[in-house]
Amino acid sequence: MPVQLKIWGCRGSVAAPGPDTVEYGGNTSCVEVTLRDGAALVLDAGTGIRELGLELVRRGTRRINLFLTHLHLDHLEGLRFFAPLWDRTVTLDIWGPRSPVLGLHERILRAFSPPFFPLDFRDVPARVTFHDLPGEPWRGDGVTLISELVLHPGPTLGFRLETGSSSLAYLPDHEPALAGIEGRSRDWISGGALAGGADFVLHDAQYFDAEYGAKIGWGHSSVDDAVAFCRAVDARRLVLFHHEPERSDRALELLEDRARELTGTERLPPVLAREGMVIELA
Ligand SMILES: [Zn+2]
Ligand SMILES: [Zn+2]
Repeated sequence: MPVQLKIWGCRGSVAAPGPDTVEYGGNTSCVEVTLRDGAALVLDAGTGIRELGLELVRRGTRRINLFLTHLHLDHLEGLRFFAPLWDRTVTLDIWGPRSPVLGLHERILRAFSPPFFPLDFRDVPARVTFHDLPGEPWRGDGVTLISELVLHPGPTLGFRLETGSSSLAYLPDHEPALAGIEGRSRDWISGGALAGGADFVLHDAQYFDAEYGAKIGWGHSSVDDAVAFCRAVDARRLVLFHHEPERSDRALELLEDRARELTGTERLPPVLAREGMVIELA
């Protein structure tokens, strides 16, 4: 059985439910990787993780590894409402970036304290262990997960998932243009080693180029830069991720059109990430 990746949330910055976002979804970043041994591997804890948690409870999954790219709220705010956290039979390992001043554990505890939340992390029944990244690659059932720091405000990771025969990079919040993309070797591009030659790259494409000029340094990419990044690192297929909250389903399709126009026929046509989308890795 191939390793499967399922998107539970791909909206950027803040959840955006409503009639205009039904097709691509309003939940913030959360991606599930289904391993062959039934354990769960989860990337980010945006609001999409709430529904994934209910599904994991239904499946009886007791062993979960959660990898956080960073702690901006759109990647963390679902954690407090992740049902397996409130089950004492669950073992949850949480991996994320260390900061120069505080460990991952201490930084996440802030989200479980007044005035943000009524309960303390000591009240959490699941067996939770925290791990600072980047570190050694993580190896699970038939997959390897590699992490590296990438360009985004505050310590932020990107991930590369390898199955042996295929690979995928997850870079939901990433502004490689700040350091330069065109005319550089892969090793000198932020995220280049993670996405180099990957079959799929889930990449930040929050803005149209005309919007990006007013948002330089905010940590996100224009669709033009997302396409340029994939070309520069020779990735096969771009999956447009971290959708701008204001963007309606129809407007997102214009963004996809623009990505396809820029890509031309030289590689596979980019696609919009959408909630419920499943990607199979051979
Ligand atoms: Zn984000
Ligand atoms: Zn962010």
